[in-house]
Amino acid sequence: MKIICIGLNYGDHAREMGRTLPDKPVIFLKPDSSLLKNNKPFFIPDFSRNIHYEIEIVLRICKLGRSISEKYACRYYDQLTLGVDMTARDLQSSLSSSGMPWDISKSFDGAAPVGEFIPLQEAGDMNNITFRLEKNGTTVQHGNTSRLIYNFDQIISYVSGFFTLKTGDLIFTGTPSGVGPVNRNDRLTGYIGDRKIIDFMIK
Ligand code: MG
Repeated sequence: MKIICIGLNYGDHAREMGRTLPDKPVIFLKPDSSLLKNNKPFFIPDFSRNIHYEIEIVLRICKLGRSISEKYACRYYDQLTLGVDMTARDLQSSLSSSGMPWDISKSFDGAAPVGEFIPLQEAGDMNNITFRLEKNGTTVQHGNTSRLIYNFDQIISYVSGFFTLKTGDLIFTGTPSGVGPVNRNDRLTGYIGDRKIIDFMIK
């Protein structure tokens, strides 16, 4: 399976990063070795001094498809969850400022924690899903999918023009503002509405 991620997909986050809004979806990948499931702890890697959380809605692809039109995109995902796009911000900044690919800053082992998958019906209207992240019990990020620059159907249509989507592939759909650092013994808890979806420790 593969993990496809969308960057800068909420205007408030693009602004906090000092970036202009993208005129097309920004795509990057994480390998399957970055997946972290079942609320297992995230271990801070020794190559970074500045690991950031980014809470995101994650879609699970349920059938094979390529070059999918927006109109039919909703047939290609059947479950969603919350994931955290863990980012070595120091590596990302230094690599991107020297014009190099910053893959390693977001694709290292454990950089893709994902929570419990729920059927779409339980999340309600795909264009009005409220979600939030708490760090040590304090809300640090909150978002609503109505604020997505590219919504789920547009994302699936766009990425499937480049990558054949396969059952079990995951799509991280972007983070709202409020990203920030984690430290050892922090606890990250993510909610869709009031339902706890992911809950893990930083070690
Ligand atoms: Mg992200």
